[in-house]
Amino acid sequence: MAEKPQRAPRAPATASNLDVAELSKDFENLMRSKRFNDFQQQSQNNSRTGSPAPSQSSHLSTLSPAARRLPIMPQHPQETASVKFCNLLRVLSVTPTKYENPGLLDEALTVIPLDRLYAEADDDHQIHQAQSASVGKKPQWGYQDFVIQSLLKWFKNSFFTWVNNPQCSRCFMPTIAYGMVPPTPDETARGATRVEGYKCSGCGTLERFPRYSDVWQLLQTRCGRGGEWANCFTMLCRALGSRVRWVWNSEDHVWTEVYSEHQRRWVHVDACEGMWDKPRLYTEGWGWKLSYCIAFSIDGATDVTRRYVRNASKHGAKRNRVPEDVLLWGIYEIRRLRREKLSEQELRRLRKEDEREERELRMFTTTALAAEITALFPGSSRLIRGDEQKTPLTQDEDAAQWVHPRQQSGSENTGPDGRR
Ligand SMILES: [Zn+2]
Repeated sequence: MAEKPQRAPRAPATASNLDVAELSKDFENLMRSKRFNDFQQQSQNNSRTGSPAPSQSSHLSTLSPAARRLPIMPQHPQETASVKFCNLLRVLSVTPTKYENPGLLDEALTVIPLDRLYAEADDDHQIHQAQSASVGKKPQWGYQDFVIQSLLKWFKNSFFTWVNNPQCSRCFMPTIAYGMVPPTPDETARGATRVEGYKCSGCGTLERFPRYSDVWQLLQTRCGRGGEWANCFTMLCRALGSRVRWVWNSEDHVWTEVYSEHQRRWVHVDACEGMWDKPRLYTEGWGWKLSYCIAFSIDGATDVTRRYVRNASKHGAKRNRVPEDVLLWGIYEIRRLRREKLSEQELRRLRKEDEREERELRMFTTTALAAEITALFPGSSRLIRGDEQKTPLTQDEDAAQWVHPRQQSGSENTGPDGRR
């Protein structure tokens, strides 16, 4: 700061907060998505079986980087880091495909107290309808949304348990983590990818905490941290008939998105926190900085970071794991894989849905930019507010509700390897 004395102290510093680079990046994202959808449609028209890989000789790649700031074409990963990241996404994308197993979903239904949840949802829905009618408004949520909200309450309060350090099985004293231990053949067979080792602070007994990623197993163990919670809860939402997404965040958190047929949009649900439709929880509530939030479903993958990071200059962490055009390629590949057996009609429906979501995500960015402009020019607040009110969809404005004692720092929420 001090080495730039030519700058007037206050006003330019504030103006720079608007961050033109961020603005153009948002615009770039927007154009890229449009181009991507056009491209996807085109390639589907041109060849049914052809590789989706964009030609490297595309005229765009010959343009200068500055000229390329507008639309980006998906690009094959070249460097090792990019290849690795795309592979990681592909591996992660398998998670929600495991839910599409009738035997598993039937099993899941046997553990859910269906009568209780449906009755509760019915009551809540009726109250909601009556309240909406009394103020002359259409109900914001539908019956199925209340079913999932009831599931959420039951899951957090009665079904699943949060485990930091497991209790000693002999004397019930607290244990202390001492590191990762190799899984036993039995743990491996039951799908434990990592096993944490703990030592009892009283009697010295060694305890193991296998981290299961297999949802069958989680129906039995009913405990874990963020990963287990999100995985099992997302599957249970699927069992109750909702379309689901399992959302992975590169800062090592995972959560759920459930499709609200009533609102025709994806709704954020965090089972660990019992939160429904509070996508700004992590950033504006807890002050986290997030780089990538990628939603995986049976229909593909979507970069939903903008839903969770409304103001990229304030809450966005550096997106440097992979070039943006390569990330796009990775997401495109996953969509192609998941959709390759779908009918033309289903593909068209999904494409429309992708476009609708893109408009929604774009609106979040626009609204955040508008709010920043409002902060710069207080006189324009009325104008901006009018626009903001047109953002119909989320009801996540009450910041006080999101703030929760569980903060990012919490070593108490991570295992011996520092992972949640
Ligand atoms: Zn003990």
